[in-house]
Amino acid sequence: MTRSEELFAQACTVMPGGVSSPVRAFGRVGGAPVFAASGRGSRITDVDGRQYLDLVNSWGPLIAGYSHPAIVAAVQAEVARATSFGAPCEVELRLAQKVVERMAGAIGRIRFTCSGTEAVMTAARIARGATGRPLLVKFVGCYHGHADSFLVAAGSGVASLGLPDSPGVPSEIAADTLTVPYGRLDLVERVFAERGDEIAAVVTESVPANMGVIVPPEGFNKGLYEIAHRHGALMIQDEVLAGFRVSPTGGWGLQGRLEGWTPDLFTFGKVIGGGMPLAAVGGRAELMDRLAPVGPIYQAGTLSGNPAACAAGLATLELMDDAAYQKLYDIADRVSGIVSAALAREGVAHRLNKVTSLFSFFLTDEPVVDFASASRQDHEAFARFFHAALDEGVWLPPSGFEAWFCSTAITDDDLEHLERAMAVAARAAAQ
Ligand code: PLP
Repeated sequence: MTRSEELFAQACTVMPGGVSSPVRAFGRVGGAPVFAASGRGSRITDVDGRQYLDLVNSWGPLIAGYSHPAIVAAVQAEVARATSFGAPCEVELRLAQKVVERMAGAIGRIRFTCSGTEAVMTAARIARGATGRPLLVKFVGCYHGHADSFLVAAGSGVASLGLPDSPGVPSEIAADTLTVPYGRLDLVERVFAERGDEIAAVVTESVPANMGVIVPPEGFNKGLYEIAHRHGALMIQDEVLAGFRVSPTGGWGLQGRLEGWTPDLFTFGKVIGGGMPLAAVGGRAELMDRLAPVGPIYQAGTLSGNPAACAAGLATLELMDDAAYQKLYDIADRVSGIVSAALAREGVAHRLNKVTSLFSFFLTDEPVVDFASASRQDHEAFARFFHAALDEGVWLPPSGFEAWFCSTAITDDDLEHLERAMAVAARAAAQ
C-alpha cells in the first residue's frame, strides 16, 4: 500500500469521501486520489515522494506556480504581523486598489469574500436587492459555486423552472433560477420576453470552464448584456475562474472591454487570492454602495479581506505583468500543441477548446459548444488517458469536464517531460 492509499483510507473514516471538495476524489476517473505533500514551481510532490508536472495548479489560483518566492515572502511578512485582524488593514486596501486599477474603469468598488461561492451569492443578493426582483437566469453547465440558487440542474427545454441539483436545495429556491442552454441568445430572448420584469440578473461565466472550456460564441456575452439591460435586469459576469487568467483583465478584457460594454457586477476568485482563501465581488460604485454598511443589503465575513490572503493575491497580481501573460499564453500554446499532437498520432478523436491560456481537451469528434455536447465525450478513454499521464508523472484534472491550468513556472524541461508522457497517455486513450 502506498502512503497516499493509507492516508486516503484513514481520511475516508473521518471526512465524507476522504476529501474537502468532491472533484478531488477522482470520482470520474476512478482510483484513489494522490495525497500532496509539497509543491515548487511547476511541480508537486506526493506523500510517497513522487513528483508530477502539475496542470491543475490548485484549480487555477497558482498562476505563477507553487511557492513562488515573492508570494511566500509576502505571506510570511503578513503572518508574522497577524494571521487575522477583524479590522481593516493596509494590504487589503492595496489589493482593492490594485484590482480596481487593473480592471481599467470596469469597477469602482470591491468587497472581499473568502470563496467564489460567497462572491457569487453576494452578487446575486445585490442584483436582487437593487432591482427588487426575484429571478436569476443561468446557463446549463456553468458553475458558480454551491449556493442554493446556483446548484440548479439543466431543465429540459427552454427556461424550465430550475430543479434542485442536490438534495437540500429547496425547490422554491431552485425555482427562482431559470436555466438556458449555453450559447442560445434566442432562448435568452424568449425567457426575458416571458418573465423579464421578474428577472434580477443574468449570470454567466465570462469564459465557461466548468463543463470543460467552452468558447463563447461571437457576440454572446454582449447580447446577454443588451437583453438584460433592455428589460431592466443586471448582468453578472463570473470571472472567478477566467479572471486574471485569460487576460490581464479576464474574460471582460477579451470581450466587453473591446466591444464597449461593462457588466454590472463581476465576481473574482482563484488568481486574485494567489492560492489563499480569497474572492471578491466588484462593480460600479453606485451599485456596490448598496452593500452594508453604506446601504441596506447585508453581507459580511469574519475572515473576509484576510491579510495573508490579500498579500498572496497582491503579490500574484504584481508578478502577472504583460510579459508574464505573454509567457503564460505561449506555455499554454505549447502544452496544448503537445497534447493535440500526441492524441492525433494515436488517432484519438479529440477537440481542443481554448481561450488564450485556458483550455481543455474533449475526447470526441464533434464540436463542443455546450453541456450536452460536452457530455457526449468518451469519459472512459479520458480516464485511461488521465491514469497513464499520472503514472508518467503528469497531473491532469481528473475529469473531462474540467479546465487545464498552466502556470508561468512551466519550463522547457517540463515540456519535454510532457511530450514523453503524452505519447504514453495517448496510447492508453486509444486502447
Ligand atoms: N464561479 C466559478 C466560475 C468557478 O469556477 C468556481 C469554482 O470553481 C466558483 C464560482 C466557486 O468558487 P469557490 O470554489 O471558491 O467557492
